[in-house]
Amino acid sequence: MKRLFICILMLYGLNVLGFGKINVVTTYGYIADITQRIGGVEVSVSRLAAGSPDPHFITPKPSFIAKLRNADLLIINGGQLEIGWLPPVLLQANNPVINPGRPGFLSLMALVTPLDVHDDVSRAQGDVHPEGNPHIQLDPYHIPVFAQAVMEKLCQLAPGKCEIFRENYTTFEKRWLEKTALWEQKLSPLKGTKVVEYHKLYDYFFHRFKIEVAGTLEPLPGIPPTSRHIAGIIDLIKKQNITVIIQDVYHSSQTARFIAGKTGVKVVIIPHDIGAVKEVTDIFSLFDEIVGRLTGS
Ligand SMILES: [Zn+2]
Repeated sequence: MKRLFICILMLYGLNVLGFGKINVVTTYGYIADITQRIGGVEVSVSRLAAGSPDPHFITPKPSFIAKLRNADLLIINGGQLEIGWLPPVLLQANNPVINPGRPGFLSLMALVTPLDVHDDVSRAQGDVHPEGNPHIQLDPYHIPVFAQAVMEKLCQLAPGKCEIFRENYTTFEKRWLEKTALWEQKLSPLKGTKVVEYHKLYDYFFHRFKIEVAGTLEPLPGIPPTSRHIAGIIDLIKKQNITVIIQDVYHSSQTARFIAGKTGVKVVIIPHDIGAVKEVTDIFSLFDEIVGRLTGS
């Protein structure tokens, strides 16, 4: 017993002195990958949601509670994307260190300028996120902003390791900006073109690269397509010479294919997070794959 007590004391001491890893839990895969790149060997990172399901509707598992209970830091997307599934597990985990407003909590949404902010939200507008469109990871220019915030947060939690985090950030940012320039170059022929997407999932991406989202298959966010709305979209595609419907991996592509049959439009399935398709294993391949699928390269 005495030996066990000494062991616990030593482990606690090592942690306080900065030898232990920082235990980070993230909600989505893209946040986990960014955190791992900045934290390196100094962090242990896990994510709650797997890549392919609908990010709005994650089914909580008992393992979520265990992970949150042991976390030193929780990093979420924010913008109410997790509102339907995270609060109950966070409550059950009963780990005050990672609650909103505490040093062990970081929400990424607050770091960017949101699209589609609605002052007056009612259910009649569908499943609208009042703080704005929460699918913020799909603008590549947001990624270094998130990486920097993660670096600053890790520095705050482990000041003794801050130099390492800073170095990791600098390396990451340099490589990311080089890749972003390449993606931008590849996408330049698409500038000014119009697309239709299923859900307002890729708006940040299209907004950044000046591709216009002319319509969505959902009549309102979260509301499945109706026949009347589909007829309107077919009309829009014909009138505006739209050649592509962007489909995510977690909604059925049946409607998109039906419209394709009527109009000759192409259906392109693109990933939204790490693991959404097998080619996307990290934050770099996420954008490589999106750009590749959109440009056919
Ligand atoms: Zn959404």
